[in-house]
Amino acid sequence: MTRKVEKARVVVVTGGTRGIGAAISATMHSFGYKVAATYMGNDKAAETFKENSGIDAVYKFDVGDYDACAAGLALIEKKLGSVDILVNNAGITRDSFLHKMTQQQWREVISTNLDSVFNMSRLVVEGMRERGFGRIISISSINGLSGAMGQTNYSAAKAGIIGFSKSLALEVAAKGVTVNVIAPGYIETDMVRAIAPEILEKIVAKIPVKKLGNVQGIARLVAFLADEQNGFTTGATFNINGGQYLA
Ligand code: NDP
Repeated sequence: MTRKVEKARVVVVTGGTRGIGAAISATMHSFGYKVAATYMGNDKAAETFKENSGIDAVYKFDVGDYDACAAGLALIEKKLGSVDILVNNAGITRDSFLHKMTQQQWREVISTNLDSVFNMSRLVVEGMRERGFGRIISISSINGLSGAMGQTNYSAAKAGIIGFSKSLALEVAAKGVTVNVIAPGYIETDMVRAIAPEILEKIVAKIPVKKLGNVQGIARLVAFLADEQNGFTTGATFNINGGQYLA
């Protein structure tokens, strides 16, 4: 199913060149949105994404760095116009039990997964309020809800996104701006392929549907939440996890 939107609104997808983000970028592009995808350092993947998707608005900056986000967004807005829809998708893991976790592992994960949500949302929310329309959709994780061994940093960041989004949803509700969260379970991407096969096998065995999720399911939900007609869904967290955690 593809459906062209009536108004070609501007979408920014952080970490939009690989994995879940690339599927979100491609889906939104296919629906007729003007899409900018950002990434951190994998130039090769970004080039491949550009060629495959036909999206040429691709920008490299660290979403954990406020000034870099401001500069990146200025370039995006110059090329495409004001940002109507922000998808906070960029994320990393640096797993370790807490008794072995370094401050660097903590900081990197909080910076990329949570500071980024403040940075990007803060920079676009004033414009959204003024224009009376906006959609902010952030990608959390099942592990922000359930907790996960070796992921105190990641779980804290992903749970933080949920609290942030509920509060922001209340602040902007009367301004035509909705704020929602998607909490995926295990989805087949590079991040999950990096898990040791014997551990991944055990993880899949515990998922009631007995398989990993696919990126399209997340992308379709983003499109639903971004829809102009959908101004009543806000402050919500959507679980897409094959029944693994029923919140
Ligand atoms: P990938 O590792 O496949 O892709 C991550 C993307 O984020 C890449 O484009 C990467 O850029 C970008 N990125 C990483 N760090 C930064 C940074 N500091 N600044 C800007 N961009 C950055 O991730 P997934 O697609 O698997 O995950 C996407 C999101 O979904 C993440 O937030 C993740 O936590 C969440 N999630 C994923 C699950 C899964 O099963 N895959 C499950 C639950 C949640 P580059 O290519 O340059 O490295």
